[in-house]
Amino acid sequence: MASPSDPRSYDLDGLRARVLPDRGGRVDDSIPQLADADPDLCAIALALPDGDVRSSSQSDVAFSLQSAVKPFLFALALLDTDGEALDRVGIEPTGEAFDALKLESGTGRPPNPMVNAGALLTASLVDGDGVEGRMERISRGLAAFAGRALEVDEAIAHNEHLLGDRNHALAHLMRAEGTMRVSADDAVAVYARACATMVDAETLALMGATLALGGVNPRSGRRVVPARVARDVVSVMATCGVYDGSGRWMRAVGIPAKSSVSGAIVLSVPGRLGAAVVSPPLDAQGTSVCGRLIAETLGEDLGLHSFATG
Ligand code: GLN
Repeated sequence: MASPSDPRSYDLDGLRARVLPDRGGRVDDSIPQLADADPDLCAIALALPDGDVRSSSQSDVAFSLQSAVKPFLFALALLDTDGEALDRVGIEPTGEAFDALKLESGTGRPPNPMVNAGALLTASLVDGDGVEGRMERISRGLAAFAGRALEVDEAIAHNEHLLGDRNHALAHLMRAEGTMRVSADDAVAVYARACATMVDAETLALMGATLALGGVNPRSGRRVVPARVARDVVSVMATCGVYDGSGRWMRAVGIPAKSSVSGAIVLSVPGRLGAAVVSPPLDAQGTSVCGRLIAETLGEDLGLHSFATG
């Protein structure tokens, strides 16, 4: 096997050009703003331990986090509840779609924090007085992961709240089971707003790096969460981050990651680096088609697969 390339000299635009002709996949159409996404957008960024960020062209184009927010909501819930969040949400993979109307049997808890049920719950567990207080706390927390203030696209948040029927159903299901303790509508409002937080590939790579590097943002130098919280979150990204494609992802790519309907994927390579890719067309499991190819190639070329044995 060739020795791995150096992330500092790796040709990210070359990789982008190689995968761009791949035109498979479908852009999500759950809300108009996602349906309008540019199918040709493709950006890659790597955030390194010294805070340096290397990126391809288009890595300053903004997109909504969508489900890429879920690892960070889990982290904030673990931090704010002093770990009690682990009693309130499961951590087993589901083998089902991200929005499956299903809870853990026996407990009525959401199955894991990387599917919608789990993220609705973790978003309800962060500190803050009412909807406004929790939204404010989440914004501050996400900003700390990013190392800069982040905007929320209010039109996206509004539509996600209005049109997210399955999320309302999940919140009501958890209310019925006694596992969701805020009102169903409040739960969806807070989660929808978190999903509507805008980032670019460079920022998302830094967020992934903060988890990969023990909870400290490598650019700001600020500790955002304890190392133990970061470890817990990255572990669950590894097992559940790509929904019913998590097993296939781990075999082929080997990097803990979280996919999202905006076509973003955040990756955290433990102790090494954070990365982000965005390209809107998705496969059947809701994973960016080009994003997967890029992650697989990066994993191979930079020697990032967690289970490379020689
Ligand atoms: N906001 C989206 C939803 O709840 C996020 C889903 C996703 O990115 N997979 O439907």
